[in-house]
Amino acid sequence: MEYGDADGYSIYGQLTTGNDAGLICHECGQERAFLGRHVRVHGLTAATYRERHGLGRSTPLASEDLRGRLGEKATARVGSPAWDRFEAARDIDAARQESMRVWREEPPRPQVRHARAAKAVSVSQSRKPRWCGVDGCGRKHVADGLCRTHYERRKRKGDVQADIPVRARKGGPQRS
Ligand SMILES: [Zn+2]
Ligand SMILES: [Zn+2]
Repeated sequence: MEYGDADGYSIYGQLTTGNDAGLICHECGQERAFLGRHVRVHGLTAATYRERHGLGRSTPLASEDLRGRLGEKATARVGSPAWDRFEAARDIDAARQESMRVWREEPPRPQVRHARAAKAVSVSQSRKPRWCGVDGCGRKHVADGLCRTHYERRKRKGDVQADIPVRARKGGPQRS
């Protein structure tokens, strides 16, 4: 087989871009932004796929469109062993998210993303109010932005009765 010959669904030695800006798989004709990952369904690695279809060893198996979105620094790495690992490990949706990130030396691993998510949760918890939200109360927050007294008042009476000093509940007769 020589460069330019018909080869499966594409052309030997060439990558064809399809209607959706993805690359056409020589093996099955499907269009993929990340062909490097897709070819595994045919039992191939990026490297063996390139070899089999007459592509240069450094030919990127990611569409131009996708590489454009991944940014210059990532594009410079296309074809490197690290890039092949990246292509093999990720799918197109992850790649789209990835394009929003600053490219780092190594692709992020799942546990890194989990750690980040866990951090986000603890941050949102620390944003809970620390003090009762009723004007002039200043007691410690317990639930729903209220201190225990105001929280229980609202629960029992349907209103925090902010105009009644909290102290009035102790000792003096309770107004309703
Ligand atoms: Zn295919
Ligand atoms: Zn209160």
